Amino acid sequence: MIKENIECIRSKIRETCEKCGRKQEDVKLIAVSKTKPVSMLKEAYDCGCRDFGENKVQELVDKWEQMPKDIRWHMIGHLQRNKVKYIVDKVYLIHSVDSLRLAEEISKEAVKKGVTVSILIEVNVAQEETKFGTTCNDVCNLVEEIAKLPGILVKGLMTIAPYVENPEENRQYFEKLRQIYVDIIQKNVDNVYMEELSMGMTGDYVTAITEGATYVRIGTAIFGERLYVNKE
Ligand SMILES: *Cc1c(COP(=O)(O)O)cnc(C)c1O
Repeated sequence: MIKENIECIRSKIRETCEKCGRKQEDVKLIAVSKTKPVSMLKEAYDCGCRDFGENKVQELVDKWEQMPKDIRWHMIGHLQRNKVKYIVDKVYLIHSVDSLRLAEEISKEAVKKGVTVSILIEVNVAQEETKFGTTCNDVCNLVEEIAKLPGILVKGLMTIAPYVENPEENRQYFEKLRQIYVDIIQKNVDNVYMEELSMGMTGDYVTAITEGATYVRIGTAIFGERLYVNKE
């Protein structure tokens, strides 16, 4: 089932890219495997998936230990500062940085371990009270401040759009995030490499791709419904 699901998503991505004149390889699929057992991750791995997304530190570390080492692990959930030390040398990209304090902690641990950590800034574009993320107004300044820190590279922006029936309702948020992204590129800040826009999930990834997503984060459409919902 996982194999069919992944093939279906890949062909959707291909189709969407053709329609909107983008290169297929510019849209990367992250298999969001939170709450799912390693056996299912291995199935996805065998279908060629190398990008996996998790939202809990302990779960990411457990799976990191059990899975092949050529996987790129994406931390996509809210990250507490006291847990940063467990993942800085294991993650490929942290999507959920939304404060200078968190970035400072990542920087400190990265320097300690002699690694450079790539991050995205999470923006709460839709201003949902239940969600983390910085505001559209603050993101530019935050990027400039974080860019000064050693051991950390700002690679782009991420947003989690609201849960909606009709993905068209989220187009405005994806469009807004891309605008902010372009604004930051034009500022030409040292040490900022705006390359990635992480947006789009099971319900709205096609819309997100047409608005410029470079990473789509997909869980349910690959692995099925989660047993318990984690609203992080
Ligand atoms: C769970 C989660 C996803 C995947 O959601 P689906 O709707 O199952 O595709 C994507 N991004 C984040 C940040 C998540 O927490």
